[in-house]
Amino acid sequence: MNIPVFKLIKRILLQVRAYWPHLISLFFLNLIAAPIALLKPFALKILIDSGFGSQPVPNFIAFFFRSNYEFSFSVVVAISASMVIFVALIENIYGLVVWILETFTGEKMVLNFRTQLFNHIQRLSLIYHDQKGTSDSLYRIQYDSMSIRSFLINQTSPLLSSFITLLSMIAVMFFFNWHFALIAVCVIPPLLLLIKLSTTKIKKDWKKVKEDESGAMSVVHEVLNSLRVVKAFGREDFEEQRFTNRADEAIKGQLKVAWSLSVFNLMVGIIFSIATALFLYLGADYVRTGQMTLGELTLVIAYLAQVFGPLQSISKNLNDIQSSIASIDRVICMLDHEKEVPENPQAIHLAKTKGAFTFKDISFSYKKDTSILKNISFHIEAGERVGIMGSTGAGKSTLVSLLNRFYDPSDGVIYIDGTDVKKYKLVDYRNQFAIVLQEPVLFSTTIGENIRYGKPDASEKEIIDASKSANAYDFIIKCKEGFDTLVGERGMQLSGGERQRISLARAFIKDAPVLILDEPTSSVDIKTEALIMDAMGRLMEGRTTFMITHRLDTLDYCNVILHIENGKLSDIIRNEDPERMKTIKQKLINAVAS
Ligand code: ATP
Ligand code: MG
Repeated sequence: MNIPVFKLIKRILLQVRAYWPHLISLFFLNLIAAPIALLKPFALKILIDSGFGSQPVPNFIAFFFRSNYEFSFSVVVAISASMVIFVALIENIYGLVVWILETFTGEKMVLNFRTQLFNHIQRLSLIYHDQKGTSDSLYRIQYDSMSIRSFLINQTSPLLSSFITLLSMIAVMFFFNWHFALIAVCVIPPLLLLIKLSTTKIKKDWKKVKEDESGAMSVVHEVLNSLRVVKAFGREDFEEQRFTNRADEAIKGQLKVAWSLSVFNLMVGIIFSIATALFLYLGADYVRTGQMTLGELTLVIAYLAQVFGPLQSISKNLNDIQSSIASIDRVICMLDHEKEVPENPQAIHLAKTKGAFTFKDISFSYKKDTSILKNISFHIEAGERVGIMGSTGAGKSTLVSLLNRFYDPSDGVIYIDGTDVKKYKLVDYRNQFAIVLQEPVLFSTTIGENIRYGKPDASEKEIIDASKSANAYDFIIKCKEGFDTLVGERGMQLSGGERQRISLARAFIKDAPVLILDEPTSSVDIKTEALIMDAMGRLMEGRTTFMITHRLDTLDYCNVILHIENGKLSDIIRNEDPERMKTIKQKLINAVAS
């Protein structure tokens, strides 16, 4: 998506509303840079005209001396030397103030922007993340967001002040000699044309560079996340090649931009040198015919540099801005992406549900035209234990994703205790669920903190009780640091069964009325499975449970079976006598397996 530049600038300015005073101060500080720069060539002019030549010293210096004071050569030299030191001092103090203000404002703005992005990205729909991938989001938060600083502080503000400096310098030159001023002004139209031609191309190239860089980063990210698989299959060299290819693309793009910029700078240089040559030609003639002193010519030439300086920085900035705009465009697009499943503005609070669910004509697709779930309807009473069965890819995980509103159905309504789930606040609704997944997800902190994730204000005792209920206590106290043991990234320093039991403890401590279990025992040994099932049996007590499973012994915990095939509910079995139920379960398992 390409947002028009003016709209983008408006959005950015609104974004950094809190920093307007800082930015305005920086803008004015940038403006002072020009008058400070104007002082510089004066020292040289005084030395040439009043030291070597016979011109009187300027009034603003004579003002500090007695009237009719005789300025000797050495006094004039001393005055110009002191002026050099004075101007340098002012320049440096000025530089320091600008630097501190720039750093403070820039860092704060970027941090605020990043925090907002992070906040937003967590709430973006899973469909967005499934499509874009985490690395692209990371790149946008980490790198693209920094452009807000370069755009507002390093590019736009100097651009505006360069523009004002340029106007004032041209005015000063008109005051000195309009011939010179005219030459300076003539430089502007070809320069504008050049800028127009180059920026469009450079913006497009920059956008491609950002995408390629993000692509290269996604290889690193993916490989680091799947190191075990990469090593096991000995694919390190292949991955290195994949990274190099993507990074090469980004470098090619960078070189393309650099080439366009060099050609642009060359052209700007040629325009400026032609103008300077004209200045010299005209100036030499003026000095020879006595229409101008040598000091004045030196001053005008120095001023010419002050005109070309801002012009050069305007041209450079306009090109640099293209890179920032490409980044800001990417970030704003992400911010504009719809959050989550949309929440009804009149959504109401939900304290604790009983846990009865009704699916009415539910259909769902991840992408247009590929229907995953078709017309599913069923009713589950509060406290029932539902086993969900079906072949792989049938749509079981998708069904439970709809249940806790990771996605909203494309068609149909889900009711909880007889009320449309969309009437409730999303956060309240999701709070009704505790989830244990096939591949348990832990955070890189201690075991205790991972359990506490289910209930942030849990006491030590509650954590211990939850771990006992989940049959995890024994292995936890055997760890060297007990509940303070660090589990490593994604819990990789623990075994699969240990991770699973911690995630069960997390579900216990949450004490939610509805439980979702997605094949929680499929990757552990029989002994651990028995421990987990024993804990799960306790966890299910008094809660509505949805359990995806392929195993007969786990199905035994369920009193309702939903059989899903090809996205359709092919069977719902309940209220049979235990023997018959067992036979049906076995038949189903055989059917799914065959
Ligand atoms: P399994 O027993 O293997 O876990 P499942 O019954 O849980 O299978 P789902 O994960 O619900 O199956 O997937 C149902 C279909 O939806 C599959 O064909 C799958 O390719 C597709 N699918 C699943 N997740 C996504 C996604 N995020 N984006 C697009 N399609 C998806
Ligand atoms: Mg699944």
